[in-house]
Amino acid sequence: MKYKIALILTLMASGSLCSFDLRANEAQPALTPTALDYLPQDDDERGLWMQMDELEREVKSSQSLIKDPELNAYVRKILCNTVGDTCGRVRIYIMRTPYFNASMAPNGMMIIWSGLLLRTENEAELASVLGHEFSHFEKQHSLQSFRNIRQKTDAMAWMSFVPYVGMIGQIGAIGSIFSFSREMERQADLVSLDYLADAGYDPNAASDIWRRLRAEMDATAAERKRKSQKDDNGGFFASHPNSGERMEYLEQAAGKKPPKNYMHGQLEYRRAMAKWWPLLIDDQIKLNDFGATEFLLGQLGEGGWTPQLLYARGELYRARGKDDDFAKAAGFYRQSLSGDAGLPESWRGLGLALIRSGDRTGGIAALRRYLRASPEAFDRAIIETMAGTDE
Ligand SMILES: [Zn+2]
Repeated sequence: MKYKIALILTLMASGSLCSFDLRANEAQPALTPTALDYLPQDDDERGLWMQMDELEREVKSSQSLIKDPELNAYVRKILCNTVGDTCGRVRIYIMRTPYFNASMAPNGMMIIWSGLLLRTENEAELASVLGHEFSHFEKQHSLQSFRNIRQKTDAMAWMSFVPYVGMIGQIGAIGSIFSFSREMERQADLVSLDYLADAGYDPNAASDIWRRLRAEMDATAAERKRKSQKDDNGGFFASHPNSGERMEYLEQAAGKKPPKNYMHGQLEYRRAMAKWWPLLIDDQIKLNDFGATEFLLGQLGEGGWTPQLLYARGELYRARGKDDDFAKAAGFYRQSLSGDAGLPESWRGLGLALIRSGDRTGGIAALRRYLRASPEAFDRAIIETMAGTDE
């Protein structure tokens, strides 16, 4: 049995495991999961698909599913630009979950977490993640993992293999459905790099993401006065190669691609995501991870500190509320309002921050501006109790 596993790993490392036995019949076109007319080929695969179809039904009815047609069409367009027409086999689901993650099921269900969209900075970076997930699908990694685990152990392993089935409704989150091996991850990374370069997207985008994820982990740790977890393999990256190792081999492989005038699609990405940032940043602020959020806002601010971003920064400091955070928050809200005096949320934030920093009169004036600018405010009653009303 050990021999078999070793054989699978060797085949995977050489990248030739994918459906090689199906090519034996020369008269038939090679069937891969990415062929448009592909159906499960045996009992293992049929079983896996049935489980995944059930999971997909839950995902479809999940409260966390972001259904916005425009956003979904945009993410799909990037996938199709990257992998070509076979993108038609994949169904994308964007879940409102504020962490960096994506997963791919063997039946063609791809799940993208909203926190990922906050962290990728351009189309090339998003393409590198979509290409990576698609490569797992194309190479049938989940089917291989399933067979691999079943050979090693028994049905119990299969149960832990699909850990979140049945919990999606409550927590709106699906972890890595499939625990892929390091070799599979590496293969998906490298295949994705080929996709990127062939599509004209900058292959360096893949290592750029990992560099920033590591910097974000440093920022979290610095604020919490703990050791950075960037070199751990725990948590969300449990099944993945160490992030530093990954960043390095991706950078090296990208360096071997022919030099070209590659696309990044940053402007297009910012345009498509702009309307989502307030919501995604708000979800991020609620994680109570000041270091990471400040880091992410800084990244977004590199493209220019918009009134919305300055408002978010005010919210972040006001939420932490230590030392002179309220005074700093008031400063950010003021900057936000000098860019766009009609942003009601910034008046609200300014009012609350000023009251907390001791300027009651200024605070009340700002809260009244908020109520005037936002007559239908959801929190009108409570703000009126604090600020009274204009006569
Ligand atoms: Zn992966």
